[in-house]
Amino acid sequence: MLLDVIIPAYNEEGNINALYESLCNSLSDIRFNLIFVDDGSKDSTYKELRELYNKDKKHIQVISFSRNFGKDAAMYAGLKASKAKYACIIDADLQQSPTLVKDMLKFLEENEEYDEVAMVNQYTHENVFQKLFKHLFYNVMKKSTNQEYVAGASDFRLFRRNVVKALVSMKENNRFTKGLFSWVGFKIHYMKYTPDKRHSGKSKFNFSKQISYAVDGLMNFSTSLLNIAIILGTLCTGISFVYFIYIFIKTLVQGIDMPGYASLACLILFFGGMIIAFQGLLAKYIAKVYMEAKERPIYIEKATLGFDEDIL
Ligand code: UDP
Ligand code: MG
Repeated sequence: MLLDVIIPAYNEEGNINALYESLCNSLSDIRFNLIFVDDGSKDSTYKELRELYNKDKKHIQVISFSRNFGKDAAMYAGLKASKAKYACIIDADLQQSPTLVKDMLKFLEENEEYDEVAMVNQYTHENVFQKLFKHLFYNVMKKSTNQEYVAGASDFRLFRRNVVKALVSMKENNRFTKGLFSWVGFKIHYMKYTPDKRHSGKSKFNFSKQISYAVDGLMNFSTSLLNIAIILGTLCTGISFVYFIYIFIKTLVQGIDMPGYASLACLILFFGGMIIAFQGLLAKYIAKVYMEAKERPIYIEKATLGFDEDIL
């Protein structure tokens, strides 16, 4: 097989058929296989996929999860199932035009030295706040991890088999795939594209989800947040030591007249708050270790279609 197209799908009943038609049209002259991963959809996504499979068993494989495990788990399942020379990840909602898959493929076939093509989102509707947040996130990630991050690089990517193998070899449970894409290295070619409007349904990632995903990602790939605690803690200790010497000398020279209970209360609250906040941060890292230590599977299959030993 030349190309496996991996499609994570969560509640995408209105998009499955249109995407299938569009992919078949775009890829008609190459040997391809579509791996749909139904991420525990609550609508009729799986029903649509089963019908499609019965219609075109030659081109379709389906993995269905027992519940919603998230897009990162769905991408992992698809990559794990892929056996082709190239693998491509594409969203199910037709925001990422299937015609671009051929462009990515052409690039990799003509440029041996590259192992991956990544599509970079050129959004037209982002407000200043979103742009600022994105810029900040990618800069912090770059500085704190020493890895390569390109602002707006999406999950819409095409990989050679060597990259797929590397990505699948990383079995961590709490997956931040954007980070893994850059952590594994390889030579990546970035191509700009403008995402289309969603064909049907609603986006699953609102702005607040994106923020918590970004913070989670930063924690997964860097411990630099803990450095803030160390730096602030050391700074405060230094300042309070100087203040202590000042008070000590003042008391010796002027006698013990020490007003200022209000400022004392403020200081206690300030430092108390800081200690609790940083203990919380530390606890978040420990919680991550705890969750990973359980070694639970990244996803659980409820059904598969088109594999050697199908779960039905
Ligand atoms: N998706 C998924 N599991 C989830 C959330 C999303 O498999 O828990 C899939 C979704 O079906 C789509 C892709 O991930 O194919 C991107 O999701 P969405 O379009 O909601 O994100 P956006 O394009 O708004 O960033
Ligand atoms: Mg989308």
